[in-house]
Amino acid sequence: MKMLTIRNNFHNTECRLRLRGRELSRRQANRCRRTLCGVTGCLCGGAINQRGPASIVDTQGRQYYARTGYDDKGRWYVRVLDD
Ligand SMILES: [Zn+2]
Repeated sequence: MKMLTIRNNFHNTECRLRLRGRELSRRQANRCRRTLCGVTGCLCGGAINQRGPASIVDTQGRQYYARTGYDDKGRWYVRVLDD
């Protein structure tokens, strides 16, 4: 389990979450999006409104990337990758 800090350097916001496995839960993804940018129609950030260099880091400062897609059942996911 990893503690991640997700940042948006346009709105100067951040969101912390505990990652279990490699995917964010829908609740976590929605909470991040709302916390990092509450502006309707704003295109500031990525899949979870992360923005800026090193916008997803763990407590050791290691950087992660978020990738989104659909699984074989058509459900949307956000996967956190450390490579
Ligand atoms: Zn925004």
